[in-house]
Amino acid sequence: MIILLDNGHGFDTPGKRSPDGHFREYAYNRYLAFRIRERLQQLGLDCRLLVPEREDISLQERCRRVNKICQRFGAGQVILISIHINAAGNGQQWMDARGWSCFTSIGETRADSLATCLYEAAMAQLPGHNIRKDYTDGDPDIEKNFYILRHTRCPAVLTENLFMDNQEDVAFLESAEGSQAIVNLHVEGILHYLSL
Ligand SMILES: [Zn+2]
Repeated sequence: MIILLDNGHGFDTPGKRSPDGHFREYAYNRYLAFRIRERLQQLGLDCRLLVPEREDISLQERCRRVNKICQRFGAGQVILISIHINAAGNGQQWMDARGWSCFTSIGETRADSLATCLYEAAMAQLPGHNIRKDYTDGDPDIEKNFYILRHTRCPAVLTENLFMDNQEDVAFLESAEGSQAIVNLHVEGILHYLSL
């Protein structure tokens, strides 16, 4: 199985930062992806960064890279986790919304079970945090037509790892304990999915 990590955005992406500007989503997504890849590689798994570049790479190009790997190895041999940080406002002011969520494309796919594994790991790793769920379709993930989920052939999920426009969430993400918890939940969720 090839585990692809998509660290969202780039240094040249406008916005996508805390209201005071010090927390940059692209940088934190990259930091998470590097640490998750390191842990999975230590376990002997084939984990790759979809976007090693610092600049933003278009969603079309990201999907092209995923589908090229799917074509080569088979879509059933690939999973994609797109890593992001959420925002509730327009980036100008601190907001109240907090918490962790995971998205899949609309409809029942193999991505749903990957998302469920990540939710279980998030609940274990983020006690006291708001784990944002949508059980209307019988599983916890939130279904949304994100481009990267809709245009990739393998099971694909997108994690929104707390909110960059909430002061408590940013403080947690910047703590050693907080970043470790976010890394752990991805590693544990992926390992659980691979064991199914
Ligand atoms: Zn994002």
